[in-house]
Amino acid sequence: MAASSCRGAGGAPSPEEARAFLREANGTILRLSNEANQAGWVQNTYITVDTEAIAARANAAFMTAVTRFAKDATRFDHVELPEPERRQLTLLKNALTMAAPADPKEAEELAQLVASMEGMYGRGKYCQDGESGEACLDIEEITEILAKDRDPARLLDVWEGWHTIAPPMKQSYARFVELSNKGARELGFADTGAMWRSKYDMPPEAFSAELDRLWGQLRPLYLSLHAYVRAKLHERYGDQVPADGPIPAHLLGNIWAQDWSNLYDIVGPASGARTTSLTDVLQARNVSPTDMTRFGERFFTSLGFEPLPATFWERSLFVKPRDREVVCHASAWDVNNVDDLRFKMCIDQTAEDFTTIHHELGHNFYQRAYAGQPPIFRDSANEAFHEAIGDTIALSVTPEYLVKVGLFDRAPDASGDIALLLRTALERLAFLPFGLVVDAWRWRVFSGQVMPDGYNRAWWDLRERYQGVRPASARGDEFFDPGAKYHIPANTPYARYFLSSVLQFQFHRALSQATGCATPLHRCSIYGSAEAGKRLRATLEMGASRPWPDALDALTGQRQLDASAMADYYAPLKTWLDEQNKGAKVGW
Ligand SMILES: [Zn+2]
Repeated sequence: MAASSCRGAGGAPSPEEARAFLREANGTILRLSNEANQAGWVQNTYITVDTEAIAARANAAFMTAVTRFAKDATRFDHVELPEPERRQLTLLKNALTMAAPADPKEAEELAQLVASMEGMYGRGKYCQDGESGEACLDIEEITEILAKDRDPARLLDVWEGWHTIAPPMKQSYARFVELSNKGARELGFADTGAMWRSKYDMPPEAFSAELDRLWGQLRPLYLSLHAYVRAKLHERYGDQVPADGPIPAHLLGNIWAQDWSNLYDIVGPASGARTTSLTDVLQARNVSPTDMTRFGERFFTSLGFEPLPATFWERSLFVKPRDREVVCHASAWDVNNVDDLRFKMCIDQTAEDFTTIHHELGHNFYQRAYAGQPPIFRDSANEAFHEAIGDTIALSVTPEYLVKVGLFDRAPDASGDIALLLRTALERLAFLPFGLVVDAWRWRVFSGQVMPDGYNRAWWDLRERYQGVRPASARGDEFFDPGAKYHIPANTPYARYFLSSVLQFQFHRALSQATGCATPLHRCSIYGSAEAGKRLRATLEMGASRPWPDALDALTGQRQLDASAMADYYAPLKTWLDEQNKGAKVGW
């Protein structure tokens, strides 16, 4: 009896215990996630010290529970279980973006650090000497100046101005790194960065290598674009932009030099046919923010998806409120994890926001498609899939599509294609190296390879290496320039955006082939295709219930990531760029 009782106490738990554990985990995660979503929604759309505190509490409760489940899941490591249950346990162990330490005081401190850094970012403003209140510039205004102003002194001033929001976060960030690493180690990961890289159904090292392989497929294309843009900026600004070195970061039309599309007036081909501007059409017709969103919804219904629920239209935030602070950064929510879909966006009448709407709705339609899965599986196949789906739809926002929905009168002929490809490459291709930098920096910070006294130097080393950009003025370690990018204070992993940039072209090529599109890839739109909709839905409904290669296979027939689709898409542009670059130095 005693021996048997000893074996029972010290032996492996039974499959029944594992199932009971998963039932509790699924139920609790759903309940606490809903509560954190409600609190988070209010915090994001009404920033005050109180909503921050409420959101921090709800997040702490959710994180503490998920952390407990992540730890407890290891108890069932050696239990014989069917694949879906085994996978739920694996996902639980990999579930966290931030692992709270077991010590409740430290867990609360960690949650507060993140909420307060996010608040600092949301309230961030550049106040010139002696100015205050209305005279200060917020992120929207600074974004506008960097996009449109061509006076280098003014650009440098507001670029430096925006970066003044970050040094006050630096100490919090360093403490956040300590605490979140402590939590990650309690779960058995080397550090928070290793924990993030474990979410891709492969070992953390294999994931880093996979990113390098993909970047290798695209780097030649990026170098061609970089050399061309640099030459045009050199013509415009003279020696402020070197003919053969890195480009000054404040002259690329965007706070982070991650999107160069605002430079089109400087770098666009002189003889190229003038492409019709969607922004002009939206403004001329005064298409309202909700009407812009209706276009996005109709894209999905044209593929066979159900329309958005009425509550989406009642509860979403479409315009920046005049009377309170909100987090304007666009995001998509499913507050009850079933059908309380919403998005939050300060919509302007621009082509960029029209595209972002399609992107955000991709998240919403994905969320609803997998709502039939157990709560642990209500997520995308991997983090990049969520980002890639909406962008895939955005690739189908072609002139032919805009004609079909009545925004353009007629599609331009092929003579304007290079101009069109250049325009989108300035956004999507220019983004790629920045998409690698943000997490390359954080992985080094979390691993301890980069310490607080070297934060800023490491940031600029990486930006120069990958992006070929540099700051115009000395940026010593008294600055904290990474903190001026939303995803750093908000602790949102970033490699997913790089991966999704690659994946969206792989998706687009496969879906375009499924629709029988015979034109060059950049002219294909899946709008209105039931076949494309069927493939898309099969992948979306899977949620996270299968390893991502299965989800990739359902949509594309391929099981490996492949950046060649993006190279295919931009092949005509690469040929053209290389002609323009003849005789000039490529690289830096
Ligand atoms: Zn997104």
